Amino acid sequence: SKNKDFVLSVEGLTVSFDGFKAVDDLSLYVEEQEIRVIIGPNGAGKTTVLDLICGRTKATNGSIKFKQKELTKLKEHQIVHAGVGRKFQNPSIYEDLSVFENLEISYPRGRNVWGALTFKRDEAVHAKIMEIAEMVFLSDKLNDQADLLSHGQKQWLEIGMLLIQDPELLMLDEPVAGMSVAERKQTAQLLQSITKQRSVLVIEHDMQFVEDIADRVTVLHQGKVLSEGSMQRVKNDPKVVEVYLGH
Ligand code: ADP
Repeated sequence: SKNKDFVLSVEGLTVSFDGFKAVDDLSLYVEEQEIRVIIGPNGAGKTTVLDLICGRTKATNGSIKFKQKELTKLKEHQIVHAGVGRKFQNPSIYEDLSVFENLEISYPRGRNVWGALTFKRDEAVHAKIMEIAEMVFLSDKLNDQADLLSHGQKQWLEIGMLLIQDPELLMLDEPVAGMSVAERKQTAQLLQSITKQRSVLVIEHDMQFVEDIADRVTVLHQGKVLSEGSMQRVKNDPKVVEVYLGH
């Protein structure tokens, strides 16, 4: 059963690039433990919305509240610290390090169980790495060098590197692009297990995957919300059909 509190409340969000509104008076409310998927044609403003939430792009107008905290005035690293994780399409893992070391290096410094300011490799850190490795299907790859992983496993490793920082909202840009059918299934399972404790905001083009994972779908078009609701509802919305058939 899902909680009804909003982890993220976006209101009136607008960004102009030389007078062109890439995101135009957008409102978006993501619930705790929800998997929300943003879809829409190329250029609709999907990536820009995630860039605005994570502080990579500054809004021209509007507010982004994450658990009551206003994000629009914070810097990118402060937004990460507030509990928003963002994964880009290309994995930024350390190819020369092992899976274990990649997870270890991502463990937040200054937040270990002893409250020590420097990183300390203690049992709790080790246990956390094991827990995350299991979640992202890499328990038996811990000693493998990261560049030996498959494309899908690299994507999972990067998700693990974000999870170890304990974000309450995880944003993913096309997480299953280039994945095999089996890897897609596992990724769907991973997103379900992530949202037992967190919320996920995903940009996705693979409509079958969207149908498999989405609690709700937000359709963007020309920087605005064209339609919103269950996949069943939005895919039968005449406005959505028109936009997709027009392409
Ligand atoms: P989507 O992710 O849905 O394909 P984007 O968010 O990447 O769409 O882009 C939305 C629109 O904003 C596009 O027309 C794009 O060219 C424009 N845009 C995005 N970022 C910038 C920028 N930094 N400067 C100028 N135009 C931009």
